[in-house]
Amino acid sequence: MRGFGHKRSRKDMITELQKNFYRITSRMPYRLRHVHAYLLVQNKNLALFDTGLNTDSALAALEGDLQSVGLDIQNIRQVYLTHVHTDHCSMAGLLQKMTGAKVYLSAPAFEEYRHYRKADEAVAQARSFYASHGMTPAEIDAIIDEFEDIRAIITEFDADDILEDKQVCNFGPTQFQVISTPGHAGGHICFFFPKEKFLLAGDHILPYIAPSLTPNIFDDNYRPLKTYLESLGKIEKLGCAEIHPGHGNSLSSVNERIAEIRAHHEQRKNYFYGFLNNTPKTARMLAQEIFGEDLPDFEKFLALNETFVYLQELKHESRINEKINDSVLVYSSI
Ligand SMILES: [Zn+2]
Repeated sequence: MRGFGHKRSRKDMITELQKNFYRITSRMPYRLRHVHAYLLVQNKNLALFDTGLNTDSALAALEGDLQSVGLDIQNIRQVYLTHVHTDHCSMAGLLQKMTGAKVYLSAPAFEEYRHYRKADEAVAQARSFYASHGMTPAEIDAIIDEFEDIRAIITEFDADDILEDKQVCNFGPTQFQVISTPGHAGGHICFFFPKEKFLLAGDHILPYIAPSLTPNIFDDNYRPLKTYLESLGKIEKLGCAEIHPGHGNSLSSVNERIAEIRAHHEQRKNYFYGFLNNTPKTARMLAQEIFGEDLPDFEKFLALNETFVYLQELKHESRINEKINDSVLVYSSI
C-alpha cells in the first residue's frame, strides 16, 4: 500500500492524530502490508479500537509503541473490535488475559468468532459451500488449511458486552456511537465520534481499494453486496469530516470516496455479467475464466468469493438464472 515502502523507526508506528488520540500501525505479511489500531487516552487509561495482527513480536511492539509516548500496556481497559478478521482482532484475547481489559464487539461478530472456534462445524460448512460452487476437493483442502492457519492466530477471548447499533459509549468525557455496517464482514461496526466528527471505519471504507466482500457460508440469505451498499448509505448520512480506516491514510472526502466505491461495484458487476451466456457455468468456472487458471490457492478462494458476490446480486436483479446441476449450482444469462 502507498506510503509503506520506506523504512520507519519504531517511534513512527504510533502517531498522535489529535490530543489523547493515537494511530498504531503494525506490519503484517499479507497483501495490505500493514494494519492500524486506534487508541483513546483518558488519564493514562487506554481504550483500544482493533488490536492488529497477533504475530510473535506484536505484543512487544505494542508495548514499545505505548512506552514511546509514555503509556503503559497494562492500562488498556477496553478493547473495541470493528470485526473479527485476524488482522483486527487476533490480539484481543491476549490483552484481555494480560491486562483484564474488557472486550466489546457486535453480536453477529461474536457469533462469527464462535463459529470459527468450532472447527469441525466450520470445516464441514466450508466444504459444502465451496463444493456446491464447483471447487475441487484439492482446492477446498487448501482453503481449509487457510482457515486453520487463521484460527490458530486468533487468541481466545470472551465478549464482556455486546455492542448494539446506535449505542452511545463513553470513555471518560469522550462519547462515540456504534454504527452497524455489515458488508465487508457480517458483524462489522464503525465508531463515530460526533463532537470530533470522525469515524473509525475498520475495513468498511478504505482509501485505495474497495473492501473485499465475502459470502457467509453459514447463511445462504446473506447478500454481502446489497448489505454493504446499504451500510455505505448510513455513513453518507453521518456528516463525517474524516475517516480513519484500518488500512491506509485517513481521508476527508468521505462521500466522494463512497461514490467511487459504489461505482466500482456497479462496473465490476456488469463486467462479471459479460461472461455469462446460455451455457450454464459454475461460479468456479466463471472465476477461472475471469481471473485465469494459474492462481495461488488463496487467490482462487478470493476470486470465487468475488464471483459469488456478483452472481448473487445478478440473480436478485433477475438478470441471470441459477440452477442446481448434479448438486452443483450453475448460472446462465436469461
Ligand atoms: Zn477485514
